[in-house]
Amino acid sequence: MVSDAKSSKFVELLLGWHEHNRRVFPWREYRTPYNTLVAEFFLQRTPADRVAGFYCQFIQKYPDPFTLCSADPNVVTSLSTQLGLKKRILWLIEASRVICERFSGRIPDTNSDLRSLPGVGCYTASAILSLGYGKDVAIVDVNVTRVLTRFFGYSSSSRKPNQELESLAEMLLPKGKGSDFNEAMLDFAALICRKKPRHEDCPLIDCCTFYSHFVSV
Ligand code: SF4
Repeated sequence: MVSDAKSSKFVELLLGWHEHNRRVFPWREYRTPYNTLVAEFFLQRTPADRVAGFYCQFIQKYPDPFTLCSADPNVVTSLSTQLGLKKRILWLIEASRVICERFSGRIPDTNSDLRSLPGVGCYTASAILSLGYGKDVAIVDVNVTRVLTRFFGYSSSSRKPNQELESLAEMLLPKGKGSDFNEAMLDFAALICRKKPRHEDCPLIDCCTFYSHFVSV
């Protein structure tokens, strides 16, 4: 059972840290549901730094689902030969086609409609709802799972997102600030509470269960 005091402290410290440590990416500077969809497809298995330049080029050429689904797939995929994104671009074209045919070119704004798109799973749907539409929906991947598990002292077998951690993440979301909180979680997992954690730079160190039980003893 997670106490209210520990939850509030976590949110407060995390958001405070993020104010000065937010990572800058082109898809964060101009957020739309479509831009978020494109970025999330590219980021599925490719590090953000490698995707950034290509993303800008892609969005400039294919700024909406209509342009993308009417383009020649061979031309579109030829843009990314060095990044290994071919398969994901083909899914993206297919998803754009469905968006144009079934949703009149508008990116769906419900979880079930998003999940009906080719290549869109639970994580991508939550990312579009939160980061693209600004809804208070938690984004939980393996990295966020790692942070929650360590800080709140869940069993180390909880390495993958599960119902319990998803409920915890939903409970933590500050009302009206869900997208800020999710960005902060993703950045914190990437920069501080990494696989090899940087405890010495962590603003949460004084209240972290993992640190007090396993590191500082
Ligand atoms: S103290 Fe270490 S384990 Fe705990 S949240 Fe910070 S970086 Fe992660």
